[in-house]
Amino acid sequence: MYTAGVSARDVIVVGGGPAGAAVAARLHQHGVRDVLVLERYAHPREKPCGGGLTGHADEAFAALDLRLDVPHVPSRSARVRFGSFVRTVTLGRPVNVIRREDFDASLIAQVRARGVEVVEDEGVDAISVEPDHVVVTTSRGRRLTARVVIGADGAASIVRKHLTGNAKALPHRLFKAELTMPAAAAGPGVAVGDDAMLYDFTPMLRGVRGYLWVFPVPGDRINVGIMHYPSTRLGGPALIDQLRAGLAEVGVALPAKAAHGWPVWGYHPRAPVSAPRVLVVGDAAGIDGLTGEGIAVAMEQAVVAGDLVARGLRTGELGFAGYRRALRRAVVGRELALDRWLARLLYQRGEGWRRWMSLVLYDPDVLEMYAARVAGSEVLADQKLRLYGALARHVWRARGRSRALRQAGEGLALDGQSVPLLSSASSSGPSS
Ligand SMILES: Cc1cc2nc3c(=O)[nH]c(=O)nc-3n(C[C@H](O)[C@H](O)[C@H](O)COP(=O)(O)OP(=O)(O)OC[C@H]3O[C@@H](n4cnc5c(N)ncnc54)[C@H](O)[C@@H]3O)c2cc1C
Repeated sequence: MYTAGVSARDVIVVGGGPAGAAVAARLHQHGVRDVLVLERYAHPREKPCGGGLTGHADEAFAALDLRLDVPHVPSRSARVRFGSFVRTVTLGRPVNVIRREDFDASLIAQVRARGVEVVEDEGVDAISVEPDHVVVTTSRGRRLTARVVIGADGAASIVRKHLTGNAKALPHRLFKAELTMPAAAAGPGVAVGDDAMLYDFTPMLRGVRGYLWVFPVPGDRINVGIMHYPSTRLGGPALIDQLRAGLAEVGVALPAKAAHGWPVWGYHPRAPVSAPRVLVVGDAAGIDGLTGEGIAVAMEQAVVAGDLVARGLRTGELGFAGYRRALRRAVVGRELALDRWLARLLYQRGEGWRRWMSLVLYDPDVLEMYAARVAGSEVLADQKLRLYGALARHVWRARGRSRALRQAGEGLALDGQSVPLLSSASSSGPSS
């Protein structure tokens, strides 16, 4: 039982998803024991997500001393599709596809087992920052105080609202559904018993600025979904129609009302992520703008945030003015900043995206580089020379590649009904 005003806790973490569990784990590693995690729902709770844990998650698990101990499908290859172009890229380390209900519950159970106090079914309704503490008002009407509040409360973060006020930015939109693997599914990127993940950019031909995915999940099921970058406005129903049409091309039927999702904001290196005594982590700080990835991102950011808060509690410096820069300089921040830039090129409105898409698909090195980044074996942001090399090659080959891209998209029925499917996972078009 806590009594407001009597003594402030060291830290209240708002939200018990991957970011909240990870930052609590990091603080515990630093010996910070007076931590309370408040989670609005009770685990296992639903979270719309593709469930793909990239290689960076492995590093975060190791850094945080957490375990992946729930059923998962290790996916060792990514299949990239654009119309009749299909190319399979081997991943240096598998992407482990989990179900979020299991995963998030397991993370919270692990930090609880270390002695961290987690209260579920109690959300934070408001925070108010005073000179020497923060007051947190909960959905059960409690007023709690803490020296520091960490907002790990996801895309609709109330803690971020405290930092950004009413600043408006357009969100990414992501929708997903989990389906039983259809016995007939055997188009490009989808095959029964196949553990490859499909990233299908074909919907870009129909105005989507993003991609459709099909991931294998435990229990002979598939996780399907679509991500849209906000360079153009597409509402939820239109995106679900696009998802349905795209899935029909690969032999998967999307039942009515099966897809769920919500808006998520992309990481911006200059967006506020802290104020005195308050900082945000995970979706509250912004997801990867190119891929919509955010689980490993949340855990990596939690390491940075946890280190800074633990130091601040020791030294009394709780202004956290250096947090934004610390995030930006960490591997996670460098990759997020690069992906933000790539997303703006690849998902731009109008037709300019074609030039960049043809570079991604037809350059011999670019998909491999990105696969290494997804696997976590390379930091793409540190590969500038290779990226510049690819750009230089593209200057010479852009015309041929644009033609190949056009041909790859030809014959696609815009209603997504009759599409010539490739039976083999091979690439087509210019090889370099
Ligand atoms: C459709 C979709 C597909 C995605 N696919 C992938 C993918 O394949 N791979 C990947 O890496 N990322 C993916 N993402 C992104 C990923 O889901 C998020 O980046 C990730 O969940 C971020 O973790 P988090 O802990 O910051 O936020 P969340 O997982 O959203 O957790 C926040 C927690 O805070 C709680 N909460 C919220 N408000 C309050 C409050 N006021 N008080 C107390 N508790 C509160 C919530 O109940 C929740 O449990 C996807 C997102 C979507 C929408």
